[in-house]
Amino acid sequence: MPGKLIIFSAPSGSGKSTIVKYLIDRGLDFKFSVSATSRKPRGTERDGVEYYFLTPDEFREKITAGEFIEYEEVYPDCFYGTLKSEIENKLNAGYDMLFDVDVVGGLNIKKFYGERALAVFVKPPSIEALRERLEKRATDSPEMIEKRVAKAVWELEFAPKFDVVIVNDRLEEAQAETERVVRKFLGK
Ligand code: ADP
Ligand code: 5GP
Repeated sequence: MPGKLIIFSAPSGSGKSTIVKYLIDRGLDFKFSVSATSRKPRGTERDGVEYYFLTPDEFREKITAGEFIEYEEVYPDCFYGTLKSEIENKLNAGYDMLFDVDVVGGLNIKKFYGERALAVFVKPPSIEALRERLEKRATDSPEMIEKRVAKAVWELEFAPKFDVVIVNDRLEEAQAETERVVRKFLGK
């Protein structure tokens, strides 16, 4: 049987990575989708592991050839996208796949796969709580935190379009609820 797709989208700092890690610790088995991008590799990032790294022209050729399920040009020459080949090979091998993409990309994948995909939006209890979490996480500069918060206000408008909205207020509850809906969807 071909696998199913679980899509996680959330404003940065909502707790998406924490919840995904919990699912894996609980024994749920997924293949992560590796996206393509035309941004340059950072630090220890390797081609084919964190991303498939392409030049902007290579990325455009694949767009023209219809090789993407979805893609976005985040700023000029900086593309991100999900390759059909990446998904089909793994799904056809029977693996369930997990997607960590932005809200627009997530909804586009959902539109393409319909009932085979579960689109989950992880929501912070409030914008104030989101800001506090980003400050506590201490991985971003104050300017970057303000950018992420401003983007979150826009991203939250997309929440009603998702199959499931998980409000991550008390972490244990959000984790248990996410595990329940994911297991139900996968029949596991
Ligand atoms: P994302 O992957 O959505 O950017 P993270 O999983 O990195 O978010 O979470 C952001 C920060 O908030 C982390 O420091 C994490 O430990 C913390 N966090 C996650 N969930 C909660 C919660 N329910 N209450 C308080 N802090 C949380
Ligand atoms: P970064 O450059 O920090 O790795 O990622 C920047 C943004 O690109 C994140 O918001 C991430 O969710 C988004 N992203 C990563 N892969 C994809 C993809 O395949 N499609 C879309 N639409 N966005 C992606």
